[in-house]
Amino acid sequence: MERSLVIIKPDAVNRDLIGRIIARLEEKGLKIVAMKMEKLHPYKLKDHYAHLKDKPFYEEIIKYMSSIPSILLVIEGKQAVEVVRKMIGPTQGREAPSGTIRGDFSVSNQSNLVHASDSTETAQKEIERFFKAEELHEYQKMNFDWIYSKDEKSLK
Ligand code: ADP
Repeated sequence: MERSLVIIKPDAVNRDLIGRIIARLEEKGLKIVAMKMEKLHPYKLKDHYAHLKDKPFYEEIIKYMSSIPSILLVIEGKQAVEVVRKMIGPTQGREAPSGTIRGDFSVSNQSNLVHASDSTETAQKEIERFFKAEELHEYQKMNFDWIYSKDEKSLK
């Protein structure tokens, strides 16, 4: 099974949307294998958002993302990276379709509530950036047999 890093960002924490966002991930059938609250340090965020360092809004996202704590999760499932990206929707809240988390709860380019890894390669780097190996849990869930078919369970 694949893993993705999800960050429930400071705006979602401030707007009391933590529970609703986690509920959506759970309802979909995804498995939470790690979760914590952390006020993200700018040095970690500078790494995380290095691909945006030439954008005019770069300093502002570092400030916004380090302003109050975020909730960090590692989510596991078949094709979890793609599945979670589809669930959160495109970056711009006003353009994100209804039914996606950003589309339903955000009207902003910056304050778009959630981060999720955009490829399996970045997911691995991001999980290592924000979690120690011992914070990731391996466990069986009772509903697993009802979430995937026999064939799907044996595939990645
Ligand atoms: P995504 O979060 O969808 O992977 P990016 O990696 O391009 O998108 O951007 C990272 C974050 O930077 C966005 O989630 C958003 O918070 C912020 N951001 C992106 N575009 C803008 C913008 N035009 N103005 C302000 N903030 C932005």
